[in-house]
Amino acid sequence: MRSFNFGAGPAMMPEAVMLQAQQEFLDWHGSTMSICEFSHRSKEFMAIMEEVELNLREILIIPPHYKMIVVTSPTRLHFAGIPMNLLGRNGKAGYAETGVWSEMAFKEACRYGDIQSVTQAKLLNYSAIAKESEWQIDPDFAYIHYTDNETIHGLQFSEVPKVGQIPLVVDMTSILLSKKINISDYGLIYAGTQKNISPAGLTLIIIREDLLHQEMPVTPTSLNYRFLAEQKSLYYTPNTFSCYFMLLTLKWLKNLGGLEAIEKINREKSQLLYDVIDQSHGFYTNSVNPKFRSIINVVF
Ligand SMILES: *Cc1c(COP(=O)(O)O)cnc(C)c1O
Repeated sequence: MRSFNFGAGPAMMPEAVMLQAQQEFLDWHGSTMSICEFSHRSKEFMAIMEEVELNLREILIIPPHYKMIVVTSPTRLHFAGIPMNLLGRNGKAGYAETGVWSEMAFKEACRYGDIQSVTQAKLLNYSAIAKESEWQIDPDFAYIHYTDNETIHGLQFSEVPKVGQIPLVVDMTSILLSKKINISDYGLIYAGTQKNISPAGLTLIIIREDLLHQEMPVTPTSLNYRFLAEQKSLYYTPNTFSCYFMLLTLKWLKNLGGLEAIEKINREKSQLLYDVIDQSHGFYTNSVNPKFRSIINVVF
């Protein structure tokens, strides 16, 4: 028997994936070594990284002009990494503040440039997100940042915000690989893997090639997305176990039927919970407008 953990992350993982990791932990594919004992520059581990990329590209349908990097880091390190890589010449960006995570991203980014808040869900008690037509958008923004799924408030964008030609930068921690998305809608997608994909320690970044050359002179080498992409995510020693585990999860997801199948499961599962909450006569409450309710973490 296993316990149900409703926490958003680190979260429950597919049992089949954990069993496979357990089975091959001491002897990976007849090598008489654990995958954790391989050099990150061995052909075996490099093959795992290549497979991770191939599988992610296939599942998410990532177009060739997008680069993908795996960064060993807390997700929130990129609250600084993003402005340090994308602010470019004019040093200006807009942030949609819709909950704890995007507010934290906004505050951190303010240390690196002229960062403006375009909307605040706080004004609506985090029950909904204002339409883009009401956002304060400066056409000179190098990018607009938002958080697709605000994990703590259980508040999720119902559609991709329409912001014209300004590149969208999105935090998809807690939502990446749980629904279908169209990569071309974004300039940069980033996500910590501990909510849906693997044990903690990694951040995935998918970035449109043309945005890769705007880093600041002070941007740390280990946080320089262009350089890390050139090094195929193997500049420093990554969290090799988590990379390996991610590959197992990706294969499991493909077998399950990919994003379409998992999105259906997530919508049905979350609806079950929302129904119980809404029919509990106030015993449980969820104050998020149904249009903006998260399909992946239900708060009550
Ligand atoms: C969990 C979470 C984070 C923070 O992740 P860390 O790896 O702890 O920094 C950031 N953004 C979102 C949307 C999250 O859900």
